[in-house]
Amino acid sequence: MEAWSIVRRFADRVSGLVYGQPVQCALCGAIISRQRSRRPGDEGEAMLSALTYPPGICNPCLDKLSHQMSWICEACGAPIRRPLRVCPDCQKCLYTFDGQRSAGIYDVPIKTAIIRMKYQGERWLSRPLGWLLARAASEFLPVDLVIPIPLEPGSRVRRGYNQALDLAKEASALLEVPLLDILVRDTRYSHQVDLGRRMRWGNLRESMTPKRRLDLGGQRCLLVDDVTTTGATLDEAARVLKGLGAEKVYCATVARTLRH
Ligand SMILES: [Zn+2]
Ligand SMILES: [Zn+2]
Repeated sequence: MEAWSIVRRFADRVSGLVYGQPVQCALCGAIISRQRSRRPGDEGEAMLSALTYPPGICNPCLDKLSHQMSWICEACGAPIRRPLRVCPDCQKCLYTFDGQRSAGIYDVPIKTAIIRMKYQGERWLSRPLGWLLARAASEFLPVDLVIPIPLEPGSRVRRGYNQALDLAKEASALLEVPLLDILVRDTRYSHQVDLGRRMRWGNLRESMTPKRRLDLGGQRCLLVDDVTTTGATLDEAARVLKGLGAEKVYCATVARTLRH
């Protein structure tokens, strides 16, 4: 090896120790090595200390997500127009769950990150995405249990892991709340993607069951999934948990689709 290249490598090592290695934003890919960390109170929001330092998400991406979710339905968390405080669905008391929050809209760049985590084997993305989810869920604290939405039948065989469980593990660690992987899908349940909104709700009835009988009396549960589309899956899970005695069921996802 040439002397010059040894000097270069040594200089790089020292510079890495002094300035830190450059980190890419998990959402947009921007270099964020010198980014100032957000501290509680920056935006007037009380965040837990563990949620203060985003693991590899740049400030412009955090600002974009905050902007997307700046005015939302108090119950289901769907973006709505001012001065409405509750969306038309929640005015009709459509949901069984007690609240729902998402970190952002299911659109680029968060959509790309979710697809990479879910379908391209990049499980490490559950760390930054789980951090975003936990931050969105922190307004429901205190909760007693973090519960992942189970995979559809067949998905575990094809994919080998449940991305909702990965996210729930991350949220459980950050929020310091025990994880309970208790729900399972009924195998008679048919795949949802091709079904319309109305069909989805009907199709989901009785599609989930607990793995074993247990008493959730008085417990405040936090359901975790990657994406909210209609909210029907979360609501069916909430119905099962309330059937087991859960006092409150809140839901948190990384992103939600906009209604059309
Ligand atoms: Zn970014
Ligand atoms: Zn609503």
